[in-house]
Amino acid sequence: MAIKHILKIGNPLLREKSKEIPLTEIRSKEIKNLIKDMFDSMKAYNGIGLAAPQIGVLKRIVIIGYEPSERYPEVQFQHSNIQYKVLINPKIEFLTKETMGFWEGCLSVPGMRGYVERPNKIKLTYYDTEEELREEIVEGFEAIVVQHECDHLDGILYVDRLKDTRLFGFEEEFEKAKDHSLA
Ligand code: ZN
Repeated sequence: MAIKHILKIGNPLLREKSKEIPLTEIRSKEIKNLIKDMFDSMKAYNGIGLAAPQIGVLKRIVIIGYEPSERYPEVQFQHSNIQYKVLINPKIEFLTKETMGFWEGCLSVPGMRGYVERPNKIKLTYYDTEEELREEIVEGFEAIVVQHECDHLDGILYVDRLKDTRLFGFEEEFEKAKDHSLA
């Protein structure tokens, strides 16, 4: 178990397409250790999701999981916690054109936030750690997190999805502006 270094935007590995994991490898020690390292790293940095390429491993694995966190205090009041999950070779199908906007952040783009809109209802298909194929309908905030993390597997970062770059900046500055407008 180890806390890994998180790659930051600018690192070319974050722009690569990750490889599918052969089913025969899902239960391997290598994959088990990778998943452990991902959880250790996500928790250490207070993330709510992490994709393997963010620690430099170009394999199609995503973990998500959320307990009320300092990084997303506003979410506590609007959504229940997201159960910890491992998504292996995940696939997404959009079930609606309706979108939901959210101020996204990313451990690979530290200190920044950007407003991104994404479809708010998806069909998620993936293998779990027991090699079972699962299919779930995911909605709301969790659907946003899943799409953000799965994008990493295709070398896409949330900044690529900004419609308005004026809604992108340092979290610190947005916070200051917010305090100011309340004063
Ligand atoms: Zn990210």
